[in-house]
Amino acid sequence: MATTMHWLGNGSGLNLALNNTSFYLKGAGPRLALVDCGFTVPARLHALGILDKVTDIIVTHLHADHVGGLETLGSMLYYALRRRGDQLPMLHLPTDALAQQLWDQSLQAGLVNGSDDANQPIDATLTTYFRVSTGPIARIEGLPAATFIPTRHIPRMPNYSLRFDNRTYYSADSRDMPPFDADLIFQDVHFQPPFDDEVHASYFRLRDEMPATVRAKTWLVHLGNGYENFSPEKDGFAGFIKQDQEFQL
Ligand SMILES: [Zn+2]
Repeated sequence: MATTMHWLGNGSGLNLALNNTSFYLKGAGPRLALVDCGFTVPARLHALGILDKVTDIIVTHLHADHVGGLETLGSMLYYALRRRGDQLPMLHLPTDALAQQLWDQSLQAGLVNGSDDANQPIDATLTTYFRVSTGPIARIEGLPAATFIPTRHIPRMPNYSLRFDNRTYYSADSRDMPPFDADLIFQDVHFQPPFDDEVHASYFRLRDEMPATVRAKTWLVHLGNGYENFSPEKDGFAGFIKQDQEFQL
């Protein structure tokens, strides 16, 4: 079954001229899965008229440009759209520890003081707003399964890339090289020469170390300031991801 991948944004966390790097997956079934939900994502979903269609969110790591929209999205679905029970959106994370950290260190302050259907105050938790599924593979009905792959981003910070069972790879934020055997690669990038403690993959290292056949199936995303000065097609890449670009997977 065909799956549509729609890019909601293509920017790095520090490029405020672009929306956050995120996409959604939609198949023929009822599920619409976000991959990450940064601080610009709820407004993008609203603009596209699909905020109320979100059923699943896959989380790769806890930077705000990847999870900073979850408070707004969770609140909109719980309070404005009255989602409850099995209608709550499902969060997919690789481990229980990451789900706990997401609540304790990112979402709790803004969401803990909730209210119930009678408008009585409650001590809300992550599961007030979201269903939570943890494990090494995110399985969503009608969409390609996504395997969480531990990769290097910020030292000591849990971080994952995704490999879909249709052989599509998405680095999210990672300094590691992508797997060359994937059929389609979406890779984050920075635009400085390689250095020891980089947190994204250097454009130049990707250009110089990836075979031409791999570059040709690699789209670059998570674009920082100055990306306009580069011509990825001339360097053999598939190109830069553009906002609202779609792929059929
Ligand atoms: Zn990050």
